Amino acid sequence: MNIILLGPPGAGKGTQASRLVERRNMVQLSTGDMLRAEKNAGTPLGERIKAVMDAGELVPDEIVDTLIDKELAGLAPDRGVIFDGYPRTLVQAQSLDRLLAARGRTLDVVIELEVDEDALVDRISGRFSCAVCNTPYHDRYKMPVVPGVCDVCGATEFKRRADDNAEAVRTRMAEYRAKTAPILPHYEAQNIVRRVDGMAPMDEVSAAIEAILDQS
Ligand code: ADP
Ligand code: AMP
Repeated sequence: MNIILLGPPGAGKGTQASRLVERRNMVQLSTGDMLRAEKNAGTPLGERIKAVMDAGELVPDEIVDTLIDKELAGLAPDRGVIFDGYPRTLVQAQSLDRLLAARGRTLDVVIELEVDEDALVDRISGRFSCAVCNTPYHDRYKMPVVPGVCDVCGATEFKRRADDNAEAVRTRMAEYRAKTAPILPHYEAQNIVRRVDGMAPMDEVSAAIEAILDQS
């Protein structure tokens, strides 16, 4: 299966994607994670995109399209993919159609996580993740079972994102509204959009997504 998780920053895309990776042996392709890896490694691409990312703006379409194409090239054709944070513009959605078709893949479902924007600031400001395996946590909603130790890999170092500050979050929300939400009609025309209440507790969101995938 090839699926897209769509929703504004903090909607729970990364959280749900990592659960699907565990449960369904799918691959999570997060352009945000790929771009942060470039930025943190200080590659020429990372240097180029650092300011744009830290401000919460979108990086150019051709950069993310190329990253996704490279990742798809390395995957076995029958391996399921979860697109997390991609596509974010109509141009990217059209590129993804082409990239998938070129590899004989089809998009099965687009899951829109519906959330209340006011709650997202609270979610984003409490977000942190494992510095080694990226498992997502939250100061109030999802602390590691053993304080200070990652549930998944046992690491003891955690990190917070440079763009999880009030100003960048405002810009990211505005970018979502202006450029990403408008791609929904592209998928509605294909009748593959399914909506999930992203405000429900994490386990309920996961159950709703599982039910949709079982039917798709
Ligand atoms: P996204 O990838 O869409 O930006 P994340 O998955 O990183 O969002 O979630 C943002 C923060 O909110 C994380 O700290 C995560 O632990 C928390 N979170 C995710 N889903 C829920 C939920 N259903 N209820 C409460 N908190 C959640
Ligand atoms: P995310 O981890 O998905 O919240 O993305 C973090 C940041 O990376 C965004 O605010 C953008 O600057 C950049 N980014 C991630 N994915 C994309 C994309 N598909 N298109 C453009 N910019 C992206």
